Amino acid sequence: MLYQRSSALFKEAQEVIPGGVNSPVRAFKGVGGTPIFAKSAKGAYVYDEDGNRFIDYINSWGPMLLGHAFPPVVDAVIDKAKAGTSFGMPTALETEIAELAVSMVPNIDKIRFVNSGTEACMSAIRLARGFTGRDKIIKFSGCYHGHSDSFLIAAGSGASTFGTPNSPGVTQGTAKDTLLADYNNLEHVGQIIEANKNEIAAIIIEPVAGNMGCIPPGGGFLEGLRDLCDANNMLLIFDEVMTGFRLAKGGAQELFAINADIVCFGKVIGGGLPVGAFAARNEIMNHLAPLGPVYQAGTLSGNPLAMAAGLAMLKSIDADKELFNRLEEKTKYLHKGIETILNDSEIAFTINRIGSMISVHFHEGEVLDFKTAANGNNETFKRFFHSMLNQGIYIAPSAFETWFITDALSYEDIDETIKAVSEFAKS
Ligand code: PMP
Repeated sequence: MLYQRSSALFKEAQEVIPGGVNSPVRAFKGVGGTPIFAKSAKGAYVYDEDGNRFIDYINSWGPMLLGHAFPPVVDAVIDKAKAGTSFGMPTALETEIAELAVSMVPNIDKIRFVNSGTEACMSAIRLARGFTGRDKIIKFSGCYHGHSDSFLIAAGSGASTFGTPNSPGVTQGTAKDTLLADYNNLEHVGQIIEANKNEIAAIIIEPVAGNMGCIPPGGGFLEGLRDLCDANNMLLIFDEVMTGFRLAKGGAQELFAINADIVCFGKVIGGGLPVGAFAARNEIMNHLAPLGPVYQAGTLSGNPLAMAAGLAMLKSIDADKELFNRLEEKTKYLHKGIETILNDSEIAFTINRIGSMISVHFHEGEVLDFKTAANGNNETFKRFFHSMLNQGIYIAPSAFETWFITDALSYEDIDETIKAVSEFAKS
């Protein structure tokens, strides 16, 4: 495949945009080479500026559950735009999407819309702190909750009491309130709680991790966190920015039958427009301004175009009783296909999958936390990535990302993908 025009555009972009991109992973830094510049997308495919077609397994990093340029979403946005693009006043549309979201997701009474997953998670921990009157939070190494200061904390080797900033600009003052635990390690969480008695407001977690590749929670892990939160008057925050409306209509809460205290949304809930949201029971949500003292606001929050896209998306999901079964079956088919081929090769690998989230980790043995995810062979991943790309399959340009399966994907597309894996394995 040729990427001449993408190369030229990338060069030009780097003059005026840091690294040529508005979000770092897009730059292909982890895998090398030139990022492809998207021109358009439809259904399961994205087309680049050079006229190449790719089967898309990123899907805008998750939102396109029903495929690119999904007609009900596109029509809703065009229609709304004609009536004005922002008012800074309440609209009936906001109540309509809120009512639908509250009806689809278990255990929430009220929802507040924001503009990104970052904002949702940032606001959720402020609310948890305001509600409990405590400062500290527990997050898990390898989980990503957006780029607000409290979450940009890397695992120190001890990964226990005090976090250290992994980005310059995050102060030690902020970092010390983020306590790092190992994913799928309840004992570790218990130790951290013991060492910080009555100081922890909340545990925030991706109920299925997608930001260290896909890592599902082990049996009893989420239940254990729920128990620990109850026993220690801490809130459990599910960051469902990836899993919400993707793993089930009611997200991970529904799939695992576990109630979180605050739930964060992004990606699918906006149908591809900039939307995030956080939600909880009345007793918690009523602490939020203007009802309560915890402040949170946004000029463009509840933007009519974004709400129209989100509403069209949620309505389509709500109406389609077979959607999650179809997604599961397609992803399982892809899983089996890749597994069969790699099993016949010399390549060490582990495939993690749950619902329509799947990752190939180039690591032998279980991948259940950041340490095991980071043990994957990055050289193999890089070769895999470029081999797939050159065969017209677009997966995330980083081993630390899940793949997102879209309902628009056909079995022929999946067969083409499996064939590409087979070419990679041969090479
Ligand atoms: N939480 C999770 C689980 C995410 O995957 C992401 C983004 N990938 C975020 C939060 C941040 O969302 P956004 O990029 O919309 O700010």
